[in-house]
Amino acid sequence: MRKSVSGRGNGKILSGERGSAAGRGANASHEETGLPGLYIHIPFCLRKCGYCSFYSVTELTQIPAFLEALRREIAFCRFDGTTFDTLYIGGGTPSVLAAAQLQGLLADIRSAFTLTPDAEITVEANPADINGGLLATLRDSGVNRLNIGVQSLDDGLLAFLERRHERSQALFAVADARAAGFDHIGLDLIHGVPGQTLTSWFATLREAIALNPDHLSCYQLTLEDGTPLAERCRRGEAVLPDETLQSDFFLRTSEMLEDSGYIHYEVSNFARPGAESRHNRKYWRHTPYIGLGPAAHSFSGRERRWNRRSLDAYLRDLAAGRRPVEASELLTEEQLRLEALFLGFRTRRGIHLEQFKSRYGQDLLAEKAGILKKLTEEGLVEIGDGFLRPTRAGMAVADSLALI
Ligand code: SF4
Repeated sequence: MRKSVSGRGNGKILSGERGSAAGRGANASHEETGLPGLYIHIPFCLRKCGYCSFYSVTELTQIPAFLEALRREIAFCRFDGTTFDTLYIGGGTPSVLAAAQLQGLLADIRSAFTLTPDAEITVEANPADINGGLLATLRDSGVNRLNIGVQSLDDGLLAFLERRHERSQALFAVADARAAGFDHIGLDLIHGVPGQTLTSWFATLREAIALNPDHLSCYQLTLEDGTPLAERCRRGEAVLPDETLQSDFFLRTSEMLEDSGYIHYEVSNFARPGAESRHNRKYWRHTPYIGLGPAAHSFSGRERRWNRRSLDAYLRDLAAGRRPVEASELLTEEQLRLEALFLGFRTRRGIHLEQFKSRYGQDLLAEKAGILKKLTEEGLVEIGDGFLRPTRAGMAVADSLALI
């Protein structure tokens, strides 16, 4: 539903092609269980947004064949006895599936996998697709979190982004989701769009806060190679805000949302206390996950594996009885250590120093004393309660902190 946004450039590391959300009320109380997460990639969109590089196609006639292939992929993993405590259905645009198709998919997943009774079950939806029938079906199927791709509440910017919904549809979608009984609603927003001013962004943000979602993802637009928007910028037809303005977007967004009771718990993610995304937290803490569907990634704790980024190849493999895996890599200890640093610096929780030491054999406080002192003096990191964590200013440059 969104893409080309900072924090997602490394989506290959962070997720099975995407993911965001927070779970049910049980959430924050849910400390990390260590159980794996399950991600399903629905590779369809009604039309492509010019900024997006997520894998999806617009040939919706292929949906039945995809669902059949997905059933076969599910069958490859179904009896391994794994229990999951999060399920995230993303894409693409899962809500382009008919309600009955989503219902069937959720039933297939439940019959093949064990989900904990309080599992966080998220579906992403485009505001234009949300209606009473879809919402009732999702609720009846046990979906307890809806992540709505609002992106902006400015019709001009929505048109620029080539979104297929308007502001009014986003507002109705949130109201309808509440009326249908969804307590846990996440909204995706984008800032740093060419032509977007701080005034226009904060108008959207204020309105979004007034809708009282318990989770907000505020992504900074970045250019992804090969997208129409990147091409327009290359030709000089559109210009991203400069670095100073981007930094203003980031820091003032964090201030406004924290003043409004949200915790800035990851570079691009904010949640009411207790509503952090349990699913995304797995990506950020190196917890294993399984991703199914084209372009989906899986992580075992050491091995990363990714599916074919082509619906046709995905369908062909499964029709031939093969797993649709494009490739895999076994991460070295050093790669895992660097990722743990990189991921830790992106979260407000930060890096647990003792756990890091026992897992990777590196005493950061002792070995990096000089650079950590400098970063602390610069106000980019802080050390306390056994954690090394980024400050707000540090989160703005989180990826560079990992280079210590
Ligand atoms: S709706 Fe737009 S942003 Fe979302 S996955 Fe499809 S093309 Fe990408």
